[in-house]
Amino acid sequence: MKIKTSVIIRLLIALVLVTIIFIDTIIIRQLNKKIENITILTYDSDSLVAFTPKSNNKPMIVVTPDFIDKYTKYQSPFNDDLTFNELMEKYIRNRWADQYGTPRSNKEYRRIHEGIDLYVPENTPVYPLADYGIVTEVSDNPHYLIQVECTNPEGEIDSVKVEYGKIVRILYPEGIESVYAHLSEVFVELGQEVNRNTKVGLTGRTGNIRNSGKPSHLHMELRYDDNKSFDPRYRLRFKGSSIKHFLEFLKIGEN
Ligand SMILES: [Zn+2]
Repeated sequence: MKIKTSVIIRLLIALVLVTIIFIDTIIIRQLNKKIENITILTYDSDSLVAFTPKSNNKPMIVVTPDFIDKYTKYQSPFNDDLTFNELMEKYIRNRWADQYGTPRSNKEYRRIHEGIDLYVPENTPVYPLADYGIVTEVSDNPHYLIQVECTNPEGEIDSVKVEYGKIVRILYPEGIESVYAHLSEVFVELGQEVNRNTKVGLTGRTGNIRNSGKPSHLHMELRYDDNKSFDPRYRLRFKGSSIKHFLEFLKIGEN
């Protein structure tokens, strides 16, 4: 009987050891998988932003595939579940629709239409394009002016103030900003954090649209961190914008 008991005890110990080794193997495998999915970048890198491990003195940015999916897939500003591509296809063929680049010149200057016009009924709620953003400019003034680039009669690059009306400008993690103009109402404040479900305003007819004879629409612009606008049709997915602009707002490393 004595021998049998010791054998059983040894078998039990062996079983426990095998179980521990087995569990360890699984845990190590899962950790390896997680590590494979993480990319650590620095400030100077030309890529996307995610988290900031605060224990690290040097600012680091961790980008996961999940983050890229969540924060850089742009959707329609109308919360109608359209992807950005679908939105463009739906609204771009419209008899009123001034596309990006349409001339907006007069005797004093030459400039272009720096956004696209999305025709929806007046007072349609508008939302951010991505699931995270920061309000970087907002105005409740129906005659609000924005300084835009133009060419003067001498052919030099100049700037002119244009009446955008009530606006909301949102900065996204990728480092680009959207500008919504001609709104009838704005519901957000400067510096406010917003997500896909934040109703930031309502479409309207404020600003220079009043005298144009055009119906209510959302004038939407996309701008790089140097404030240069670009055609939204050509920028539907991340292609390597600068993240510096966004990081400045996050104030990484201050705490
Ligand atoms: Zn417009």
